[in-house]
Amino acid sequence: MTPPTSRYQDEAVDNDIAKLHLANELADKAVRHANPRALPPRYSDVYPSGPLSKIAGVRLPHQPSSTLWDVAIEDGRISAVEPHQQCSDRRHMPGVLNGSNRLLAPSLCHAHIHLDKCFLLQDPKFSDLQLENGDFQEAMDMTGKAKERFEDDDLMRRGRQLIEESIHYGVTVMRAFVEVDGGVRFKCLDAGLKLKKEFEDRCEIQICAFAQLPLFSGSDGGEEARSLMTEATHREGVDVVGSTPYVEQDEVKMKMNVRWISMMALFNEKPLDLHLDYFLDESRTPLVWSALEIIKGRNWVENQGKQITMGHCTRLTRFKEEEWQRLKQEIGNLPVAFVGLPTSDLFMMRTSEGLRGTLPVVEMIEQFGFNAAIAVNNVGNAFTPQGNCDPLAIASLGVGLYQAGTKEGAETLYASSLQTVSARAKDAIGCESTSLEITVGEPADFVLFDRMDTGWRCRKSIVEVVCDAGSARQTIRRGRVTAF
Ligand SMILES: [Zn+2]
Repeated sequence: MTPPTSRYQDEAVDNDIAKLHLANELADKAVRHANPRALPPRYSDVYPSGPLSKIAGVRLPHQPSSTLWDVAIEDGRISAVEPHQQCSDRRHMPGVLNGSNRLLAPSLCHAHIHLDKCFLLQDPKFSDLQLENGDFQEAMDMTGKAKERFEDDDLMRRGRQLIEESIHYGVTVMRAFVEVDGGVRFKCLDAGLKLKKEFEDRCEIQICAFAQLPLFSGSDGGEEARSLMTEATHREGVDVVGSTPYVEQDEVKMKMNVRWISMMALFNEKPLDLHLDYFLDESRTPLVWSALEIIKGRNWVENQGKQITMGHCTRLTRFKEEEWQRLKQEIGNLPVAFVGLPTSDLFMMRTSEGLRGTLPVVEMIEQFGFNAAIAVNNVGNAFTPQGNCDPLAIASLGVGLYQAGTKEGAETLYASSLQTVSARAKDAIGCESTSLEITVGEPADFVLFDRMDTGWRCRKSIVEVVCDAGSARQTIRRGRVTAF
């Protein structure tokens, strides 16, 4: 009996076959180029159907580019890293992926991405909502209007597009914010949870039930928002809770917001994600001090509170050395990580004198020892119209932003920039990470750069990747290929 297939399944199979043909063609061409008499590679060289047992003949980040390595995988983890063995039969072994001299690096991570607000500037449904001023108020108003029209079909269409594109760029894990409020109620959350399930084999999606609107301001004093957020926190599949204290009407309410959401996180044993201090004005006191005081007041560590991630925090850009040191001290043993969002900051944040700023993430890590990462934040909306879903585009921007001409030199800057969107980004959202050293026992989560036939332009080092990563990549999550 033939099993029933849907049109969707048929299309998925057709897609796979088309990808396979393309990959085979490329691999074939690459091999013929190297050795005209060599046999063409088989299916297992380019698109193994099951888990990989080995990725053969790759360059590794901290090794000379002239040496090639074989990375063995067992149960989704790195089981051995050995000098590459030339073996004529290898190409015909199932589960062996032909690395073709390409650079293998740890996979990438979106530590902070707004899943429900992506591609509003591209989706035809919202084509009447286009930028005129490009300021924060316009972004809030436009997004508010768009949210009134959010329905399951566009939320799924836009969200699916963002996840697919992200996986293509090498992302294996992301923290996705979905808003919960009296307007959208659970529409964004429902779509987020469905997408989390749909992509569970290819990408780990942490769903953060997120209060983008006030929890204590507004006509009903935020009562409805709090009641919806309470319900959302208890929904199966919700991993994280978060809020935006800066949208409250005054400082008292901002602190109430932090108190309430931190209580929700602690009592429900969920990580906390606060979007804080999204301004540059030096005369305004950052809320980070009060937020830390409130969190410490809950005996967070003693009560086994989970990871606390603080996003945006643009105001901290104006910190002097003593303030950074004080911040480090105030954090003490709290599990706090910061996520800087350079593309959004550069577009949106400026002082009246025209100064721009974004968290000096590499300096925070290297000089003060903070846990910190950078992230894409928004794609294709009024908060950040420029940029795409590629975390490496942000790392590349970081090279210019964080270049300080220090004695540690360029190598550290490039490695740090890459790590802010890979290992450090995963650490910032409490996920297991793979290091640049590609060590035995770590998860087999990788990105392979370039195509098999890229030739001399093939990226050989982290420096090249961070400067210009190109768009041809192959993604591997827990030892399985998830994207070409
Ligand atoms: Zn954000």
